[in-house]
Amino acid sequence: MKIFSLLFAAFLSFNLAADLKLNLDQQIEDLMPKVIEWRHDIHQYPELGNREFRTSKKIEDHLVSLGIPVETKIAYTGLVGLIKGGKPGPTIALRADMDALPVEEKTGLPYASKVRTTYLGNDVGVMHACGHDAHVAILMGVAEFLAKNKADLKGDVLLIFQPAEEGPPEDEGGGAKMMLEEGIFEKYNPEVIFGLHVTNIPNGVLLVKSGPAMAAASSYRIKIKGVQAHGSTPWSSIDPIMATSQLIESLNTIVSRRINIINNPAVVSVGMVESGTRANIIPEDSMLMGTIRTFDPDLRKEIYDEIEQIAAGVALGTGTEITVEFDVGGFFPVTYNEPSLVESMKASLESASPGKFIESDIPITGAEDFSYFQEEIPGIYFFLGVNRPGEGLNAKTFGDSASGVAGNHSPYFIVDDSALDKGVRAFVHLVDDYPNKFKKL
Ligand SMILES: [Zn+2]
Ligand SMILES: [Zn+2]
Repeated sequence: MKIFSLLFAAFLSFNLAADLKLNLDQQIEDLMPKVIEWRHDIHQYPELGNREFRTSKKIEDHLVSLGIPVETKIAYTGLVGLIKGGKPGPTIALRADMDALPVEEKTGLPYASKVRTTYLGNDVGVMHACGHDAHVAILMGVAEFLAKNKADLKGDVLLIFQPAEEGPPEDEGGGAKMMLEEGIFEKYNPEVIFGLHVTNIPNGVLLVKSGPAMAAASSYRIKIKGVQAHGSTPWSSIDPIMATSQLIESLNTIVSRRINIINNPAVVSVGMVESGTRANIIPEDSMLMGTIRTFDPDLRKEIYDEIEQIAAGVALGTGTEITVEFDVGGFFPVTYNEPSLVESMKASLESASPGKFIESDIPITGAEDFSYFQEEIPGIYFFLGVNRPGEGLNAKTFGDSASGVAGNHSPYFIVDDSALDKGVRAFVHLVDDYPNKFKKL
């Protein structure tokens, strides 16, 4: 009898130890060197949206080697894998984006990218300047851990490796929206989704904002048509460059003078101006493009109307023909972290990086197509700080210039490897805790 109760006690304590978080504590030291090696490799060979062929194949080979069933070529280069847990529970989706940016890397790192490609007709460098290489490597690490510890996994985990988060080429669809259109949620029916983004906040910080967390991103393109002339006889032209400069000035008055941003912030930026070929020719055409960031759909509509009005006014004043298009290459909705989900799960993030969890109340004017997944099911999108230890300690949030550290999309953006384990831990803690903590909405 005594032997039996001892055995029973041993069985009980074995069972208690059979916990994903404890397993991770024991295994993470062996796992992280692999995650770091994968990231360096992916970093060195970055690929633009819908062209992530090498990255996608690397992930596929990894998942297949772990015995995870994989579906490929979703939304061009996307793939999903399903890890079936040994215990009953919901299906939880985890997402990593795979694409890089047309940025020439200037970090000087030994594994810096030297890749070049043609983008919008120009020869450009390609760089993982947004850190999606880290997202892929972290999720590959999580996949390896969960596949090896699936006996203790409650429910199933759907791994989503998504192409073209930065936007697909203009004449192609892509990204989260296209993966959904191709039916991944209908097929696998996840109940909740988690995703993370690395950024220039202090090393190892996990930051989340409840409710509207990141802006909706829209774009505009304005084409101006005038009358060409020799630069020496401007009176015989209708100058599209003059009209463009008036447009830029007036666009800048939308947020500062024309709309009320007291309750909801908004941004209107000009990011691209194209005109002319030579100093002494007044060209026929000009074009400018920019981005609009909002948290409120009505305010977004107001900004669209303002841009139309400004364009019509400048056309009238200058004699040019002006056309305006919106949402060229797509639109990203607001990234919305379901408040009751954040409330239930924030302790999991806290335990993944003790003392370095921040619940922020500052919305971020960056945008994410992760928002499309959150339009279907509740989700949390959170940030992981990847500054080098001790760097940029004053930053409060993503894109805060107080940080003094190069941020996402900069040619100098550096992801510090020592922070990546917090990303792996965060996903595993969320997956392990969710079935116990959150009642389906
Ligand atoms: Zn980005
Ligand atoms: Zn990004």
